[in-house]
Amino acid sequence: MRYYSTRNKDKEAVTFTRAALAGLAPDGGLFVPDAIPEYSAAARSSLPVMSFQDIAFETIQPFVRGEIPDAVLGDILQDAFNFNAPLVRVKDRYVLELFHGPTAAFKDFGARFMARAFSYFRRGEDKPLHILAATSGDTGGAVADGFFDVEGIFVTVLYPKGRVSPLQERQIAGLGKNISAFAVEGTFDDCQRLVKTAFADEGLRKRMILSSANSINIARLVPQAVYYAAGAARAMAETGMPVTFCVPSGNFGNLTAGMYALEMGAPIRRFIAATNINRTMPDYLESGVYTPHKSRPTISNAMDVGAPSNFERMNAHWPLKRLLEMLTGAFISDETTRGTIKSVYDRYGYMLDPHTAVGWAAVDALQSEGKNKPNDSAPLGAPIGVLSTAHPAKFAEIVEPLIGAVPVPPALQKVMEREVIAKTIPADVSALLDSL
Ligand SMILES: *Cc1c(COP(=O)(O)O)cnc(C)c1O
Repeated sequence: MRYYSTRNKDKEAVTFTRAALAGLAPDGGLFVPDAIPEYSAAARSSLPVMSFQDIAFETIQPFVRGEIPDAVLGDILQDAFNFNAPLVRVKDRYVLELFHGPTAAFKDFGARFMARAFSYFRRGEDKPLHILAATSGDTGGAVADGFFDVEGIFVTVLYPKGRVSPLQERQIAGLGKNISAFAVEGTFDDCQRLVKTAFADEGLRKRMILSSANSINIARLVPQAVYYAAGAARAMAETGMPVTFCVPSGNFGNLTAGMYALEMGAPIRRFIAATNINRTMPDYLESGVYTPHKSRPTISNAMDVGAPSNFERMNAHWPLKRLLEMLTGAFISDETTRGTIKSVYDRYGYMLDPHTAVGWAAVDALQSEGKNKPNDSAPLGAPIGVLSTAHPAKFAEIVEPLIGAVPVPPALQKVMEREVIAKTIPADVSALLDSL
């Protein structure tokens, strides 16, 4: 498989390895595969009886064929996906729980695969790879955890001092070994500026081999197609019908991965693209005009994105007409999100985190508008699955006032016992360069 930049009209192609290690294309575009592969007829019909690991292999292998040998890929997947993604029934819907990994959010799937793929790509090199990442909180934890103890790779995470939650700080700065944490005396924007400036510093580039691990990396996107295929196969096994997935979205990497799974031939009918009031994508689907905005803060803050970076990727793959066949948009206010957390708990005893609640509420909204089908040919009662992107205990300060105490899963309990080991630096690039 070859990959090209969304901004390169000549489709000058690179390998998966190069696209992954580069992250962003040199022209500022995002890497996309030149074609989305399809499952073989045999694989497609046996998806409902395949294990998660086997589905992962079938899904990812065509993207990395010729670059990661099958046996190595098998090992990477065993190691990366050592937790599952159960499809649970809540009343007349399914919830695809993606929070059973070490940081209790779906980003574990992408980050853990990417880390192990990077380690393989760097095999035999005597110089280690240094990953520099800025985080406002959540992504840093998934990246730090994903790369923890991975051979040949050092990670430095910059986060705004005093502006992340105690849990997030322990996820970023509680690991040690090959993971370093810098608490920057400034904002997230300062952290991002420091990372960008450090990347451009020639002296540093001579000293170390640098890479980023941000969410637009193709090596984070592709592994996310796996749980869609596995969840859809489960729903198919139980209902005999393709599922409609509702995806709570911000940067739209998660949804793009789902669209890959649909195009590959997983039994998915279509998607609901759910956002909070940062409604750039639902507005685009409604009007056909793409108008990015500044992001506005909400209680589903991992989705506070006014200019979703994966829009560029969707646009490269699919014309608007095709997008409209695959997607229905909906946006949800904080008030409705809170009401949904409360009512779903009161009625069904199921706890939603604020992001998942946006997804649940989007299904409610479309159903009450009569768009639930949600395309007209869908038989009544066709399965609807909401992706649960995080465990509610991660957002206890929002969820607990609404429904009472949320049990903390063991993985998160252990994180809270960690000691924070971070170096405090001023928001100044020379301080960063001196500390690296
Ligand atoms: C990152 C994140 C999202 C948004 O995912 P995108 O791929 O950016 O659309 C949703 N929920 C949670 C909990 C997240 O961490």
